[in-house]
Order: sequence, then C-alpha cells, then structure tokens
Amino acid sequence: MRFEVSKVLDAIEQRLTTDPALARAVVDLAEVVRYADLDGGRPASLLRLGLVVDALATQLAEDNAAVYAVVHRGLLSDADLTSNERMVVRRWADDGLVEVLPTVGDRVLEVADLLGLPVLSRLRFEGVRDRYGWLAGQAGRLMAPVAGKTGATLVAQVGGGAIPSIGSPDPVGAKVLARLWRCPETNCANFGGGGGAFADLAPERRTGGQPPPTMHTGSPTCPRHGKPLTDIGARPPAEALAVRVSGVIRRRFVVSEDSPVVVGRAPETGGIMLGQWLSEEARRWISRSHVRFEMRGGEVVAQDVSTNGTGVRPGGSMDEAERMTLKHQTRVLSPGDLIELYPGVHVGKAKTLTSAAPLNTVSVMAEAPTLSMRILER
Ligand SMILES: [Zn+2]
Repeated sequence: MRFEVSKVLDAIEQRLTTDPALARAVVDLAEVVRYADLDGGRPASLLRLGLVVDALATQLAEDNAAVYAVVHRGLLSDADLTSNERMVVRRWADDGLVEVLPTVGDRVLEVADLLGLPVLSRLRFEGVRDRYGWLAGQAGRLMAPVAGKTGATLVAQVGGGAIPSIGSPDPVGAKVLARLWRCPETNCANFGGGGGAFADLAPERRTGGQPPPTMHTGSPTCPRHGKPLTDIGARPPAEALAVRVSGVIRRRFVVSEDSPVVVGRAPETGGIMLGQWLSEEARRWISRSHVRFEMRGGEVVAQDVSTNGTGVRPGGSMDEAERMTLKHQTRVLSPGDLIELYPGVHVGKAKTLTSAAPLNTVSVMAEAPTLSMRILER
C-alpha cells in the first residue's frame, strides 16, 4: 500500500508547476487536502489533490493539465497528514513545484488574476469580489471541486457550465512576467538567482518559468519572504507548445533559447515521449527522435530530425494540397501552424491548439488500483 501511495504522489508531482506557461488552474493545497467528503477518509490527505487534478484534466479534455498550488507553511508540519505526505510536500516546496507562504491571504486570487487562470476552490470569496471582478463576472473562473460519481467533479460557482475558463495574463501580469526577478534570500525556491531556480531539477522539469511576484505592496515582492525582488533582466523568450494526439492535448512543454526540446516516439531524457499515445502504425512511422523545436531570435523553429520526414500544415489547414514535408529542413512556426509527425499527431503553439475530443482514460490515481477502487466505489 505504501509503495502504491508513493507512486500516486509521484504522478501528482508531475502535475504541479509554478510556471505561468504551463499552469492551467490555481489551488490552495491546504484547502484541497481537507475535502474529506471526496473519499470519506482521513481529515487530511494529499491524495485528494490527485482527484482534483483528474477532474481538471477531464473537464479541460487535456491530459497532464497542471495546477499551480499555493501552500500555507503550516501544511509542511500538519499532523493530520502522514509523515510521508509531509515529507513529500516539503520536497515539492524545496523544488519550487509549489509556492509556500507564511499567510495565504488572497494569493490564490492574485495568481489567477495575474495569469488569467481559473481558481478551483469551494470558497466564494464574497469579501473581495469588488477587487477581482471576474469572480462574479466570468463563467468558469471559479469552480468548486465537489464529490462526483467517480472522485471529484468541478462545478462552476458562477454562470454554470463545466469547462474551466483560461485566459491570458492581465496587463500587470504580462509586465512583471516579461522580467526575471531575484529574491535577496539565498535559498528562495521560487526566485533564486539568475533565473536558475530550477537548476537542481531533472531537465524535463526545468522550464525556467518563474512564478509571478506578488504586487500587493505596489512593487514586485517575493510572496514567501515578503522582500522586494531585484529586476535581473528581461525574461528570455520562451513559447509554450502543445502535443495533440487523436484530438486530445496530451502534453504542454516550453521551448526557450537555451533549452531546445525534441519530440518523438522515445527521445533521450528531456524530450517529449509520444510512444504511449500512438497506434501501432504511428509508432512504426515516427522516429525515436522526430522533430526538434528551438527558440531563435524570438521565433520557434521546428527542425525535422526523423527518418520519414515531418509534415507542416500551414495555419492548421487540413487541405492535403497545402501540406509540406520537411526532410531535415527547418520551418519558423506561425501561430496557427501544425507540425505533423503522422496523421493525427500534431505539435503547435499552445495558445492556438485546443482539444477536439473528450479525454476518456486518464487518472493520476491509476497507479494505485486498490486505493482508487476504494475511492471510486465508495
Ligand atoms: Zn523569496
């Protein structure tokens, strides 16, 4: 059992990010772990984050949808969690995968505001609705995770509907996100020196995407340490790309100037591995390393590195007459362009690529058959 729980927590860890380019919703972790009615279990359980993350993925129809978790410092020593869970939360905090705060206040709302993300919470935030107009005005921006037939389901607190609404960073957010910031605290996990806050992480997790500073004092401030941040220069150009297989977004990833990304059936460490989502025919056609994406002078460039060639569908056109094939050549990606590794296997800019089919079989809880059965058959 313990082994299975660890595997579930590892799966959940893959869905945590404070990178503005990858986060799809914001949660308050201390709140989510106490949704005891989701599984009828202990007063606090880290596994409930898995249920909420599953609901987000299903309702966005997007595999691997990641959450930005804000964590009150007290959770790191909360006696209602198991010692293993406390250790895991501390590791997430040290790695900068979650944002730890001495007081949470309205930070969840601020992050959602700056990044244009939905908030997953049962709170109604009545007292601050005038400051965050979208709380009452935009459907899908405030969704409550409640017990559903299988695990959790997200219910819109305003306007109905089941689809979390994701926009773009607001003007203040866009401005602070254009710069890199450094916290005077030497061990700050979120605003470490030189933009290398993630230097200790495995390459596939090292996105370099700094979280948004808090702006409550009127100037960029470290939300954890409460100290003014130093502007250390322009944030290097980066672009979020998405992989869509058979109509479903399977993975988002970031390409930046110093970190090109290879996509293929089974590329080397740090690449995006598609094997698990491919049909037998697609697996035969697509090379282990198939297409390489890099950032050059602010543009995303795709380079074919495959045996069979890489297709380009300009502007996403499905007209076969317009399809081009790269044979070890490069192409600067325009906003709507689709890079086609095989029919139905596409990569494009995350901004313009959406799921076109429901997400049927996915669960971060899948690694714990007995555990998820207990939850699902409750
Ligand atoms: Zn700090």
